[in-house]
Amino acid sequence: MHKLYKYETHLHTSEVSRCAVNTGAEMARAYKQAGFTGIFVTDHFVNGNCAVPSDLSWEQQMNLFVQGFENARAEGEKIGLDVFFAWEYGNPPTGEDYLTYNLDKEFLLAHPHLCSLSFEEYSELVGKNGGLIIHAHPYRIASYITIPPNPRADLIDGVEVNNTVSDSVRDQNHLAWELAREHPHLIRTSGTDIHSTDGIGLGGMAFPYRIESSSHFVEALRAGDGYLIIDGEVTDMEGRPI
Ligand SMILES: [Zn+2]
Ligand SMILES: [Zn+2]
Repeated sequence: MHKLYKYETHLHTSEVSRCAVNTGAEMARAYKQAGFTGIFVTDHFVNGNCAVPSDLSWEQQMNLFVQGFENARAEGEKIGLDVFFAWEYGNPPTGEDYLTYNLDKEFLLAHPHLCSLSFEEYSELVGKNGGLIIHAHPYRIASYITIPPNPRADLIDGVEVNNTVSDSVRDQNHLAWELAREHPHLIRTSGTDIHSTDGIGLGGMAFPYRIESSSHFVEALRAGDGYLIIDGEVTDMEGRPI
């Protein structure tokens, strides 16, 4: 096996996610030390468990929303870690979470009504603009998720088959795997859903080449060039160790 480049796909920073412990810069340093090539910062969007005050203007909210990413990226530039922007859309009132990749702050500034869309409308808008939606932990059992899990395979691009650790009782990853197998068009991803520097390296993705950008990440996923990282082991897209 040639060298693989490792990436965290699901990461929170304490600047933006209420539930996170470590800053973007601390996360960047810890992932560099763990041998990763890059991270995707996926803070809870302003309709989720987000630290950005909701009484600010949309522009002010978005300026604050990108802070965890900006701080991680600035540190990454110093130490040699690639840092990419994404977010985890919270979809209230039902509460399920959608990782959204390959869109930027300009997109957010241009769509001040993003949080009042139905999920059908959100999915269409993201798709039209080249974004990618991965349903995070689609069968998680949590007080903030208020509907029985009913993933809409037709409205998502992929599914996080592995969230945090493989046998998570909370996340029921085995059901996410079933969903992915029932719908072969769905991209499969793994992410640690990391909120503090504990647990680095448990989840994520690996590629046989360096990922240059968010759009390159999407291309690499669509091309099937990725590997899953599950419980710290690199596996193929069926979860078999390689
Ligand atoms: Zn969180
Ligand atoms: Zn998350």
